[in-house]
Amino acid sequence: TDAAAATYADRHGTRHPLPDLDADARVRADDRAHVFHSWSAQALIDPLPIAAGEGSTFWDYAGNAYLDFSSQLVNLNLGHQHPDLVAAIHAQAGRLATIQPSMANDVRGELARRIAEVAPGDLDKVFFTNGGADANEYAVRMARAVTGRRKVLSMYRSYHGGTATAISLTGDPRRWANEPSDGSVAHFLGPYAYRSSFHAESSEQETERALAHLEQVVTLEGAGTIAAIILESVVGTNGVLVPPPGYLEGVRELCDRHGIVYIADEVMVGFGRVGEWFAVNHFGVVPDLITFAKGVNSGYVPLGGVVISQRIASHFDTVAFQGGLTYSGHPLACAAGVATFEVFERDGILERVRDLGVRVVEPRLRAMAERHPSVGEVRGLGLFWAIELVRDPASREPLVPFNASGPDAAPMAAVAAACKRAGLWPFVHFNRLHVAPPLVISEDDLVRGLDVIDRALDIADGYVA
Ligand code: PLP
Repeated sequence: TDAAAATYADRHGTRHPLPDLDADARVRADDRAHVFHSWSAQALIDPLPIAAGEGSTFWDYAGNAYLDFSSQLVNLNLGHQHPDLVAAIHAQAGRLATIQPSMANDVRGELARRIAEVAPGDLDKVFFTNGGADANEYAVRMARAVTGRRKVLSMYRSYHGGTATAISLTGDPRRWANEPSDGSVAHFLGPYAYRSSFHAESSEQETERALAHLEQVVTLEGAGTIAAIILESVVGTNGVLVPPPGYLEGVRELCDRHGIVYIADEVMVGFGRVGEWFAVNHFGVVPDLITFAKGVNSGYVPLGGVVISQRIASHFDTVAFQGGLTYSGHPLACAAGVATFEVFERDGILERVRDLGVRVVEPRLRAMAERHPSVGEVRGLGLFWAIELVRDPASREPLVPFNASGPDAAPMAAVAAACKRAGLWPFVHFNRLHVAPPLVISEDDLVRGLDVIDRALDIADGYVA
């Protein structure tokens, strides 16, 4: 702790000398008195006050350093306080801090052009939003306007955001308390080979049967009523589920056959997380709409958007698009986005992610799976991995029950606490530990973090029957 505080003070002189327990108490008091937090029972939480961040590390006011293996909410792709992003925001603030969306603006245009250049196929226009949920809302509205249909199909085990339509698209328990919501959504089962809903014994079978199931849902829901199918290109918070070969191609083909708009939600996996600008590029698939947010500028200023195919965009050539947001394409956010492109290209971020994923993370996680009986499966792509923990490797019974909380979730809480004590901030969801560090993490820090997880898994092993 002292060493971490000293390192921080060395870097920053006396700007934020740590520990600063008075500041810690002040931040806690204001937060507990007045900040209403997301997804939480307000009296049962104790948010950790954060003093500072740099690269892959952040510090609390006691001077404890945490290596961030969760990239905050899997958005901090270029790490904290990246000098290029900070400088771009400063420079833009000095030139023109804001301008409304119906006027043209240099950084907004440049960012849209750069996104169009790396998007697949004929996706070459961008509608900017403030984040991921509203990007999905707008994608759905575009699909409804173009098709004249209303219903949307989305996957169980998905997250699409916390606003009205986005939460109804969401296929996980976060939707439950918000129902009844948008009644024109139906859910389907996606591929998940380790817990196959289709009793598949190979990834080929999983693909084939998951597509047959989707076709059946389309038939039963009425193909002519379905505006869009939305799915995460790699499922994120619901388990880092990488689609088996052929699945996304099959979804594309099915959408074409039924005149359904294919929306790829890349809010979490776009902008380098899996080693490509967009995850669909890895699979060679061209959706009609791609939604993005998070990694586009590492969340330094809120930004999201929809990348739109020519076919869909041209529908609105002479028919007005009925939608907009005051801060759509905000110059500070777009300046940080343009800087993100420059850093990715100059520093070879995509290549780095592919290399670290294959050479460092995957072999180490596979070794953990061998060594720890609690590890049921490891899976992932690039710098986006899940370790799925089980109580019984033979039956695959999850280490904690689905949607567990409180005492039921104690084994996962114990693993997470061990990580934090060792200076690692983990991403824990149900019975999984995800590995999603900033894409700029040093190889030494990456290995150090994996060492911490390896040791913490001994605790999970203790629960194995
Ligand atoms: N879609 C996916 C796949 C996400 O992971 C998230 C956020 O985690 C969202 C949408 C919602 O994004 P936001 O929180 O920026 O509204």
